[in-house]
Amino acid sequence: MMTKPGCVYLVGAGPGDIGLVTLKGYTYLQQAEVVLYDRLVNPLLLEYASPQAEFIYCGKMPKKHILRQEAINDLLVKHGLEGKNVVRLKGGDPSVFGRVGEEAAALEQAGVPYEIVPGITAGIGAAAYAGVPVTHREHSLSFAVITGHDKSPSGEPLIDWHALANGIDTIAFYMGLGNLPYISEQLISHGRSSNTPVLLIQWGTTGKQRTLQGSLANIVQKAKAAQFKNPAIILVGDVSTLKKGESWFESKPLFSQHLLLGRANEEPSKIGQHLREKGAEVFEFPRMQKKKHLLKKADIPANRDLLFLSPASVDIFFESLQANKIDIRRIQGEFYGISKKTVKAIESYHCFGKEIAERSPDASPLVILGDPEGFHRKEQRYPFVFEPDFIATHSFIRVQQTEQTFSRLQEEERIETIIFPNARSVKTVTEGFQACGETPENISTYARVICFGEKSKQAAVNAGYAVSEVLSEPTEEALQEVLLQKEAPLAAAAFS
Ligand code: SAH
Repeated sequence: MMTKPGCVYLVGAGPGDIGLVTLKGYTYLQQAEVVLYDRLVNPLLLEYASPQAEFIYCGKMPKKHILRQEAINDLLVKHGLEGKNVVRLKGGDPSVFGRVGEEAAALEQAGVPYEIVPGITAGIGAAAYAGVPVTHREHSLSFAVITGHDKSPSGEPLIDWHALANGIDTIAFYMGLGNLPYISEQLISHGRSSNTPVLLIQWGTTGKQRTLQGSLANIVQKAKAAQFKNPAIILVGDVSTLKKGESWFESKPLFSQHLLLGRANEEPSKIGQHLREKGAEVFEFPRMQKKKHLLKKADIPANRDLLFLSPASVDIFFESLQANKIDIRRIQGEFYGISKKTVKAIESYHCFGKEIAERSPDASPLVILGDPEGFHRKEQRYPFVFEPDFIATHSFIRVQQTEQTFSRLQEEERIETIIFPNARSVKTVTEGFQACGETPENISTYARVICFGEKSKQAAVNAGYAVSEVLSEPTEEALQEVLLQKEAPLAAAAFS
């Protein structure tokens, strides 16, 4: 039986920086039921997809197999015909050496509706992050994207080298590093000066971005010495001399830092945002999802004072009243919040709330509402909460997709530093690692571990991590200082 066809969105994910996806592509990603993604798509982008989506990796499979193009086309058609919303995430722009034409044709033939959502192509994006505009009124009036590798038996692209060498100011070669000797030879022998500047950009717009400047005459030897590899753009033309020293992107203080920031609940952290603004790539791990436990009518306390442990518990309490058709005027007890933020949440429902510290310790036992883990921690911190009853309004569960993000980042050697902002995150992160087949002992051999405060350190040591640093004052500035201490040796290692 065939259901109504869904729609397949062929979406450009941009060259690397997850901020370089269009608003349209991002919206489709959030709504997708199936996501097929390529090797060059930043795995951190998956963290923004729906937690329930199915994820299919189209790059190298565990045994080094690659999902062939025909198989990808078949999967797109299959899910489209099942009536699903499918996002096919492709690196850069799907129409630039992205084989989108073949996928669109397969969908067309099968009668599956599709849309193409353009993206920022690496030739333009990586150049911009290296500080080079591909056109410039004084240096370049034309720009071409060229494949550096094609289907011919030698893999050497069959193009009109004379026209290219003489007619185009800026040329971006994709997939060209293996053919760099051939490309420079062809350009020179067809009339381009051997002094023409060349800029190589590897892993552009990501924390792994590296660049190398030279000329058509010496770039082959320089690239060999510096061990440049794909993915890289070969940018040929005078514009590349506009790169002088570190670009705006490379000079951000935390550029090239790959941080795994432990988390224990759903909300993105302020510190993660701060680190990103300073140029770091931050993976808040593991991604968690709130699971609501709406209260049954019989469980809703009408005559006891209530203490809420978080704004989420307030929301779920009120949602439960509504679901059970209970009027708020039937609830007689007073409302307390554990923090100012929680009191604010109570007030947003036009109810009066007070901070728990204002309650007399000898008042009658409370009913506490929150998540069980949070309750356990607060119970230790607030001994005045004497013999309370506890009702679980929600709990946090790990989103499975986050394990794929972790494994992909690990394969790309993009896990360098682990930060535990609190003891609770040690537990969630370690469980996440275990689900990915990683152990605290092993990860400590290649990543350094930074803890905020002694409690987190103790938890990390107990779990088996080798802790490198403990921040007694866990401020953003102190963290940045510690992170920067490793700059010198790491940069040296990357080029050795
Ligand atoms: N559709 C993509 C290109 C896919 S072909 C786009 O529009 O960008 C793959 C090639 O793209 C790589 O071999 C490399 O040459 C280039 N590329 C993709 N991402 C890159 C990046 N972050 N930095 C440098 N080159 C990149």
